[in-house]
Amino acid sequence: MYKIIDGKKIAGEMRLELKEKISEYKRSTGKDIGLAVILAGDNPASQVYVRNKIKACEETGIKSYAYYLPSHITQKEIEELVISIANDEKIHGILVQLPLPEHLNAEKILRLIPDKKDVDGFSANNIGKLCLNGNSLVSCTPHGVMKMLEHENIDLRGKNAVVIGRSNIVGRPMAMLLINADATVTVCHSKTQNLKEHCVNADVLIAAIGKAKFVTSDMVKEGAVVIDVGMNRDENGKLCGDVDFENVKQKCSYITPVPGGVGPMTITMLMYNTYLTATGAEID
Ligand code: NAP
Repeated sequence: MYKIIDGKKIAGEMRLELKEKISEYKRSTGKDIGLAVILAGDNPASQVYVRNKIKACEETGIKSYAYYLPSHITQKEIEELVISIANDEKIHGILVQLPLPEHLNAEKILRLIPDKKDVDGFSANNIGKLCLNGNSLVSCTPHGVMKMLEHENIDLRGKNAVVIGRSNIVGRPMAMLLINADATVTVCHSKTQNLKEHCVNADVLIAAIGKAKFVTSDMVKEGAVVIDVGMNRDENGKLCGDVDFENVKQKCSYITPVPGGVGPMTITMLMYNTYLTATGAEID
């Protein structure tokens, strides 16, 4: 019998808790917590993500500062904007929505975000600290996955965890978090040979590939915990994950749905990171 991990519910509970903490912070300091969100260009998916992030700010009591920039903005102009926000005391967190228009050098722009305002956990210092198992701002999606596992009391110690995907924003930090939680971790990617052989050994299988219904039931061990990070469109244009949910679920002990799984947790962890940057509360 499998259990569906309800990311929407867990995220909702976390947001309520955060809302109370943020309101207490505002009461005691007389200050707002500010998050700057920078969107350059008119990528429709990015527009939806930014809208949802601003909505989550409203829900939790964080003041959002949205910067909608034209797609023809120059590297110099966007760099100047990031530098001025970096020095603005009202703003505690800075998020640059990716992907940026192709003519812009995203890496150079992200490097201008100070570590302490790096709410996406993308800076070399924050990633380095994560690798050293220290306190750091952690990339929102993998951090959200860890919170879901924690919420379900899933013990990772000594478990075989397989992460499919090695991107800087999901796969790599996910693997680090799992290592820090004492799991035995295998990271697979597009050059991995015999992918299925790795997957069937996984007590915890995390799919972050970006290919609709890629993980099929023959790749999943009986009783595995399956976490689906993917956000794709199926042949009918319907939102779906990287896991063939309907056929895989019967084999799992726990599984996350898409939508309503990892997605809502990601934005919640962004709010959480913004709260941490503002309050200096211990980062966990
Ligand atoms: P990405 O940067 O494109 O990385 C995809 C990874 O999958 C790469 O490491 C790639 O390997 C690997 N891969 C591709 N084809 C493969 C194959 N046939 N076998 C094994 N590995 C393969 O994507 P991402 O940014 O990590 O995102 C992954 C998915 O998560 C996407 O669907 C994205 O929309 C979703 N996402 C969701 C959230 C959320 O909040 N729910 C947040 C972020 C991302 P190589 O490194 O060898 O190319």
